[in-house]
Amino acid sequence: TYVVTDACIRCKYMDCVEVCPVDCFYEGENMLVINPNECIDCGVCEPECPAEAILPDTESGLEKWLEVNSKFSAEW
Ligand code: SF4
Repeated sequence: TYVVTDACIRCKYMDCVEVCPVDCFYEGENMLVINPNECIDCGVCEPECPAEAILPDTESGLEKWLEVNSKFSAEW
C-alpha cells in the first residue's frame, strides 16, 4: 500500500484523489489518508502529489504514518 505522510498536512491539493482508480483517499484530521485495505498499489498518485507526501510503505520509518492512514480511513 501507499501511505500519506506529514508533508500533506494542510496541503489539500487533491490531485492524488482525482487520479486514484479505486477512490481510496479519505479526509484525516488535517491531511488526506489512504485506506491500506483498498489501495491496489498502482503508484499513480505518487508523482501527482505536489508535496511529495505519498510514499510506498516499503520505505523504512513509515510505520507511524501507516497507522495514521489506517486509523483515519477506517472511520468512513
Ligand atoms: Fe490509489 Fe493507486 Fe495511490 Fe493506491 S497507489 S492510493 S490505488 S492511486
